[in-house]
Amino acid sequence: MSTYSRNHAQYFMHLGANNRPFEYAVDLTQKSINALFQQADKPYSGLAPEQLKAQLEAVDLNKTEPLIDVISTVNHLIAKNSILVQHPHTIAHLHTPPLIASVVAEHFIAALNQSMDSWDQAPAATYVEQIMVDWLCDTYQLGKNSDGVFTSGGTQSNLMGLLLARDWFAKKHNNHNIQQDGLPEYGHKMRLLCSDKSHFTVQKSAALMGLGERAVVTVKTNIQGQIDCTALQLTIDALKAQDLLPIAIVATAGTTDHGAIDDLQQVVNIAKNAGCWSHIDGAYGGALMLSKKHKARLKGIESADSVSVDFHKLFYQTISCGALLIKDKNNFNTLLHHADYLNREGDELPNLVDKSIATTKRFDALKMFMTLKAVGAETLGTMFDDLLALTQEVAALIKQSKMFSLCCEPLLSTLLFRLTEQGTLTDEAFNKLHQTLRLQLLTSGDAVIAETKVDGKLFLKFTLLNPCLTLNDFDSLFIKIELTATKLLQEIN
Ligand SMILES: *Cc1c(COP(=O)(O)O)cnc(C)c1O
Repeated sequence: MSTYSRNHAQYFMHLGANNRPFEYAVDLTQKSINALFQQADKPYSGLAPEQLKAQLEAVDLNKTEPLIDVISTVNHLIAKNSILVQHPHTIAHLHTPPLIASVVAEHFIAALNQSMDSWDQAPAATYVEQIMVDWLCDTYQLGKNSDGVFTSGGTQSNLMGLLLARDWFAKKHNNHNIQQDGLPEYGHKMRLLCSDKSHFTVQKSAALMGLGERAVVTVKTNIQGQIDCTALQLTIDALKAQDLLPIAIVATAGTTDHGAIDDLQQVVNIAKNAGCWSHIDGAYGGALMLSKKHKARLKGIESADSVSVDFHKLFYQTISCGALLIKDKNNFNTLLHHADYLNREGDELPNLVDKSIATTKRFDALKMFMTLKAVGAETLGTMFDDLLALTQEVAALIKQSKMFSLCCEPLLSTLLFRLTEQGTLTDEAFNKLHQTLRLQLLTSGDAVIAETKVDGKLFLKFTLLNPCLTLNDFDSLFIKIELTATKLLQEIN
């Protein structure tokens, strides 16, 4: 062995060797994480933001240390000051504690480092992703011609769905090929429709697609937070009357704040009749497809042109992991670009880059593969059932309480509530009080809860995602919130 390779070799894993340094480092990492989890009694350390920043900035990146010392630094400085997603009072966002199967899958994914763009970089992995995609298409009953691809999450899935919609529309409209020729001369007339509770990534996608955020027309929602289908039809008619071109309608299966599921069947029908693509953003509620009890709420999803599913939310996967599924696989053709070095024309073996906007791509499909084998779709389904039931029980707790009032009946697994109004504070001061309350709970490390606005009023928000939660966890959480709120109210009065 030359001196060059001997010097560099210590940093890598090797074939035909015992790889003890790797084993030792992994073992040490796991032991540190385990010890941290065992001792943790709060969702966050409570270290003040400016102190945290200073401590991290003090790490000298120009000085190297043995990996075991680096692991120790990461443990003390970063892991200890992370949000602990396993804590029952980490309950703000669609931010899940990952399944053990998913964390273990990450070890395989990282060490094998297969790249999903071409078969020659990922032979088994390519088939695993395709098997998982086929399983998903089957689960969502998208039919024989359906296909899909793993993505980095809901944002990328929504962007891809709408990108395919745009290209499909131009081809249908006047056989214009956007992939080759760019936006057509009627590009400024293209419109995307969604509800006023849809995820902001619809607007972001429109901007990235060269249509601009103003190309998104939002339609009002009913009292349940679902898109108002009568208003949707009227909006389409009005746009067409102005010589504008509605190209796609986005229905949301589970809005981020209210958990509202649009009437998917009706939206898909309206889209079909209007000559539009139908895209379903199932990043949150799409998981209900595995629940025997609640699956019917997704009726119509099987008729959509494209569906976004997000596994790093209700499927309990490590970040990142998502998929876009489409009804007619031919629509992936507008993404196809042959590169002589990677995916030549006429390649017999499948290259997943053909249907992805990414090139080098993670083998995230393995996480869902291992989850299905080790946990199973049925158990995942019952986890959602239990979460939804628990959400109803917590809603009942809030309704009984004198201190808090519920914003609206929960539809999925989010709860919006605020302090019961006192009458002495202005609306603005009352909003500010809730903001301060949330921030104090976070920075003290007591609880990680969310806030959002509904009709100008600030509400606190719980997102129940952790299927290990019990009603007792909420009793202690409400006590913490009450204590902090009472203190704040005393300071004001
Ligand atoms: C989370 C979410 C997204 C964005 O997905 P990411 O995985 O965060 O990129 C889009 N739509 C809805 C409804 C979501 O809840």
